[in-house]
Amino acid sequence: MPKEKLDFDGLCRERHLAATHQRRIIFQAVTAAPGHYSPEEIYEVVRKQIPSISVATIYKNLKTFVEAGILHEVSPHHGSLRVDPTLTPHHHLVCRKCKSITDIDAKFLDPVRLRRAPKGFKIEQFAVDILGTCSKCAKQSAH
Ligand SMILES: [Zn+2]
Ligand SMILES: [Zn+2]
Repeated sequence: MPKEKLDFDGLCRERHLAATHQRRIIFQAVTAAPGHYSPEEIYEVVRKQIPSISVATIYKNLKTFVEAGILHEVSPHHGSLRVDPTLTPHHHLVCRKCKSITDIDAKFLDPVRLRRAPKGFKIEQFAVDILGTCSKCAKQSAH
């Protein structure tokens, strides 16, 4: 048995989520490697183990994981859901051309200071998206 990187059962128990077989397979697909996955990408992995699963079911379960705080949702530059298994504080470098997303550790960014927040808004977390052109795309357009 391969060792699970994260204790899925423990996370579910903490969040009062039923640890179903289906959810376990989906969770393993997302947390296998760091990345920023769309439901379609996860579907391609999961359907090898659960051929009857649909993209809609994957989407629904990813949303459940995000709401439970087990996964992060990447801010929606793609117009569609992207989930992030990396829960340590970090920001994103987003390429405008190829839409690739690269993690940048929170310690590489000076602390964000908001001068004024709307009255009554309770700030819980800062997530900064840095938009630009990735090195691959920059090379291509230089040609
Ligand atoms: Zn790019
Ligand atoms: Zn990330």
